[in-house]
Amino acid sequence: MTYENSTETPRLICLYLSEKGRLLANRISSTTVALSDVEMAEIFSSFDQIVFVTTAAIAVRSIAPHIKSKSADPSVVCADEEGYYAIPLLGGHHGANTLARTIAATIGSQAIITNPSDRSGTYALNSFAGFHAVGDVAHIQAQINSGVTPKITKQLDWPLPAVLSESPTSETGPEIVLSIAEPDLNHLKESGIVQLIPEALVVGVGCSSDATPEEVSSAIALTMSEANLANEAISNFATIDIRKGHPAITALNRSTQFFTSSQLAEIVVPNPSDTVRESVGSASVAEAAAILSSRSIDSLISPKRKFRAVTVAVAQRATKLGRLFVVGLGPGNPDLRTYQAAKIISHAEVVTGFGPYVDLCSDLLTPNQKIKRFPIGEETERVDFAIHSALSGDEVALVCSGDPGVFAMASLAFERANLIGFDPNFISVIPGVTAALASSAVAGAILGHDHVYISLSDLMTPWPVIEKRVSAAAEADLVTAFYNPKSRRRVSQLNKAIAILSQFRPPSTPVVIAKAVGRDHQSVEIVQLQDFHGDQVDMETLVIVGSTTSTFSGSRAYTPRGYGDKQ
Ligand code: SAH
Repeated sequence: MTYENSTETPRLICLYLSEKGRLLANRISSTTVALSDVEMAEIFSSFDQIVFVTTAAIAVRSIAPHIKSKSADPSVVCADEEGYYAIPLLGGHHGANTLARTIAATIGSQAIITNPSDRSGTYALNSFAGFHAVGDVAHIQAQINSGVTPKITKQLDWPLPAVLSESPTSETGPEIVLSIAEPDLNHLKESGIVQLIPEALVVGVGCSSDATPEEVSSAIALTMSEANLANEAISNFATIDIRKGHPAITALNRSTQFFTSSQLAEIVVPNPSDTVRESVGSASVAEAAAILSSRSIDSLISPKRKFRAVTVAVAQRATKLGRLFVVGLGPGNPDLRTYQAAKIISHAEVVTGFGPYVDLCSDLLTPNQKIKRFPIGEETERVDFAIHSALSGDEVALVCSGDPGVFAMASLAFERANLIGFDPNFISVIPGVTAALASSAVAGAILGHDHVYISLSDLMTPWPVIEKRVSAAAEADLVTAFYNPKSRRRVSQLNKAIAILSQFRPPSTPVVIAKAVGRDHQSVEIVQLQDFHGDQVDMETLVIVGSTTSTFSGSRAYTPRGYGDKQ
């Protein structure tokens, strides 16, 4: 089984006018073009997200002739050339607000959000991940913004967006209907109802090698419409792996799950076909793929429909597709946070982690998200909460400082996923700048040659094992970064570790004492090994001891790339 387009990154282009604009545009996107070189009609129809690094007036004049409708237009954000502001101009609730926040976090600017729902601290109906709001959205949103409690009617068994399921509901308020039925827009508008359509359906597709993209897309449209199902409810497509790269499947331009013929052959389907079995080895493609992808055996809600070169079947997913992102925030400052991390956090439905780490990304959080802060310790509880939220269908960002793989939550997430029964393929680890890299950079380049990271916390590793590793690092002459060097209760280990290294390194070896790097109260000191004392070291400090070749350069320290004369 493989996935295509499964992360579905929106296509983003950044347009600029001047050289200054170009430099800023390069920090925002890898696709940048001078505004003078583009045909705006083409850009408008080919990209999901457009960022102008120009004045707002230029951006507005450029897009004005092309604006069609809320659902069809791309999200448009304007950033000034100085990089002070990022302003969503179009599609605020279709990604532009999030994009503006992400840009702001990436380039250190401020996002100017003008939608009332984002400012009033309530959720926005049309920006729930995995849901589409249609009908009388603006009217009901306005009522919710002014404090009216909506009535929520569920027409299918499907989890509501996390924040909505926890909000109060009323019997009399404006109505929000959770349904996958094809929406009757006139009726919804006239009755003042919002239909919230969850992406709950899998469309299984079988096609012959000569099927055209038009045949496949119209077969799907017809099947959906005859079964009275909303197109917005499609979560993904599913088919057989031999159709990977088939132009009609590629043209669907959506997440598509592929199964082998032997996987498909194991599924019992209502409408098997001997011809299909002879040709691909499984008696069913459309029905079997839909059932397999839905992860439930009795999920078929529209059995196979046959067209000239296409078969289509629709199943309802057992659960919403939840994902767990274990996200590294870097050491603290948003400047040192990756664009990918910012994007994932601002799109997540649930953001969780140790409280102060959640605060490190507060600039990315929105009222649409469920936020859960955990106290210190409780690491297993944090991970279990994140996994259970993902199991119930939420997109979850579990945030960690630095890198999630360095003495943080990523490994624990895989361990607990195995125990809890959460598919590890639905865990993504988003890297971050770990404390050692950030500290070494502030101090110079002490990690310039081979190095090792050792945690001095004996909560997870017995002290004799740690001691053995410190001795090995000392003998191997590796620059040694000590994570968790000291806590209020654990003070002696650092001195013991320094004593071991001192047996192998000259007294003049530089030692970097980096505290709260990338945070407001950052302090970085470099001392000689002989003068080291751990008084100022605490839980927010990283200690890096140089190797025998590490040396001072003015007030900085570095480790040469080669051994040169020193060997
Ligand atoms: N995942 C984190 C490390 C977690 S272990 C990372 O990749 O950076 C926690 C230890 O990391 C702290 O005790 C401290 O030694 C170090 N640390 C984390 N953030 C730091 C920062 N901003 N400045 C200095 N040290 C830091």
